[in-house]
Amino acid sequence: MSTQTNIYVFIGAPGAGKGTLSHLCVQKLGWIQLSTGNMCRKHIAGQTAIGKEIDFVIKSGKLVSDELITSMVEQELATAATNGSSIILDGFPRTVPQAQALCELLSAKFKGMKLKIVRLIVSDDEVVQRLSKRLICQNKDCQAIYADTCSTLEPEKALVCDLCSGELGRRPDDAEDSVRKRLLVYHTHEQSLLDYYASIGQPVIECDGEKPLDKVFSDFKRLVDLGRA
Ligand code: AMP
Repeated sequence: MSTQTNIYVFIGAPGAGKGTLSHLCVQKLGWIQLSTGNMCRKHIAGQTAIGKEIDFVIKSGKLVSDELITSMVEQELATAATNGSSIILDGFPRTVPQAQALCELLSAKFKGMKLKIVRLIVSDDEVVQRLSKRLICQNKDCQAIYADTCSTLEPEKALVCDLCSGELGRRPDDAEDSVRKRLLVYHTHEQSLLDYYASIGQPVIECDGEKPLDKVFSDFKRLVDLGRA
């Protein structure tokens, strides 16, 4: 069995399915998910100094500063790396300075880890539709993702998390005006991020995120060479 630890960076618009695919990788493959959105929401729910600083930024659909987000990731990565499992970075890097910081971090502190970038492609119309139905577990240590109408993401019991029995609710930044702003912010950075990876010779694996979830997961495993995992 390979001892290679991979770091998977999931890029894609809000609602592209990064979090849902990450949950499947955690459940079925035993990987570790580091979601910068979850880290931010945990700070906000815990009313930490960082949480108070970023609350408004997040509600208004803007990005938290590169420095703050990068230092959060660095800390979490240091803990996760001791586990020996593959790690998913869900929602980071989102800008070129973050991508550069990650590359520097990997070459300075996490030399044994191989970077794999996976881009989930979903249209803006599909994103707006998905996010209008998205529910997340309000337990800040869970934050599992559901949808409120018939789909494979519907919870067994209405508004109750299947995993921890936490209450399900909407994310404040899933309101339509916030979603439109987040999409705009995403598209502003996406191309420069892709150009950056091309400039350093880093392949980007593209995955169609509009297919049914089980198909996205099997495509993903095939595309990253985990066909039999
Ligand atoms: P997400 O759950 O990935 O949609 O992230 C929710 C919000 O957290 C984003 O709209 C940003 O305000 C903030 N955030 C998450 N990840 C990052 C990041 N890498 N850089 C800056 N802000 C971030």
